[in-house]
Order: sequence, then structure tokens, then C-alpha cells
Amino acid sequence: MHEMSLCEGILQIIEDEAQKQQFTEVKQVILDVGVLSGVEITALEFAFEVIMQGTVAEKATLKINEIEAQAWCMPCSKTVNIKQRYDACPDCESYQLQVSGGDEMRIKELEVN
Ligand SMILES: [Zn+2]
Repeated sequence: MHEMSLCEGILQIIEDEAQKQQFTEVKQVILDVGVLSGVEITALEFAFEVIMQGTVAEKATLKINEIEAQAWCMPCSKTVNIKQRYDACPDCESYQLQVSGGDEMRIKELEVN
């Protein structure tokens, strides 16, 4: 499952930070997840529970912000928000869009003890 390896990556970052910042417990992890990232939120939540067991983030709650995607619309010459990869421009309904964001996943915030 794709989400398992994502959570392993998250744990890696948390453990690096734990060493750098000398914390021993993570209270909350806030993630930004782009709507085009292909991440399934429920699968991610499940994987998080499993992967974080026995780690500094064992008791951490996971909060997920879903981030809208952005695309550059050529006819409008501006950046617009889209909800799916093949959406039309919400302003001019053109399909000449260049997706410029929304497929990322990153840790926004770690709340630690
Ligand atoms: Zn447009």
C-alpha cells in the first residue's frame, strides 16, 4: 500500500526532528495533502496508526488539510484553483490548463512535548 511508505517517510522526518529538537513525544501531526496527490485519506490514517506504534509519535493525532490544486490557465493568463487533474478552468471553461501544484504531501506542523 502506497500510504504505508508515505507514513514511513513521515516517521523518518519526525525521528530526524526528534533528534535535532530533543523532543520525546509528538502530540499532533498536521499534514498538507494536495487533492491531486492520489493519497487516500482513510488509508493514510490507517497507515499512520500502524507505522507510528512504538515510536515518538505513537500517541500523536493526525490532522489532514486537503489542499486544492492550482493550474495556470493560458486563455485567462492567471492561476486558478481546480479540484481534479482534468478539470476545466472555472472562469473560462478552457481545458488549456497547466497544473502547477496540488500533487504534494508535506508535514505542515509538528506539535511536540
Ligand atoms: Zn481560464
